[in-house]
Amino acid sequence: MKLDITSIIKNNGGTIAVQAQDTLEDLKTGLGAVSFKGPVEFSGSVVNNNGMLILQGLAKVDYETFCDRCGKRIERELAVNIDEGIIEKSRIGDDITEDIDDDRFTFSGNTLELDRILADYILTNTPMSHKCREDCPGLCLECGAEIDGESCICSETNPVDSRFDALKGFFD
Ligand SMILES: [Zn+2]
Ligand SMILES: [Zn+2]
Repeated sequence: MKLDITSIIKNNGGTIAVQAQDTLEDLKTGLGAVSFKGPVEFSGSVVNNNGMLILQGLAKVDYETFCDRCGKRIERELAVNIDEGIIEKSRIGDDITEDIDDDRFTFSGNTLELDRILADYILTNTPMSHKCREDCPGLCLECGAEIDGESCICSETNPVDSRFDALKGFFD
């Protein structure tokens, strides 16, 4: 996702509206149990603020993962607010930027590369815990099926936890 910033690079206060979508290489391997699906959509703007580019907007991507409780496959959409100041690479080390960390995002020339910025925001904002629904009861300890699914009838047929059967009579 490359953005031509020629029109604002020499124009303090200049703004470009951005509507773009692209598949990001950095998201291909996924994150933990999360696999990202399809392209990342970004809509927002870039403003030249005294030579620093301010990227603001919303990045969206669909992903697939599994319920922590029952293991069911679920699909979700992640929407992340982006707000990032990007400095020109050649200005790193200038007096103005000497307090700024080296690992911040940069641009050079007339092109702003959005991939790394978007991937970074998405990866740091991906939730690591998922439930298929808020009150997912999880799996039955007896039969391994979903507790409220059709195949688990344990609570109807055997209301007492059978693990305690072994203790019956033990204290007599
Ligand atoms: Zn679940
Ligand atoms: Zn069961």
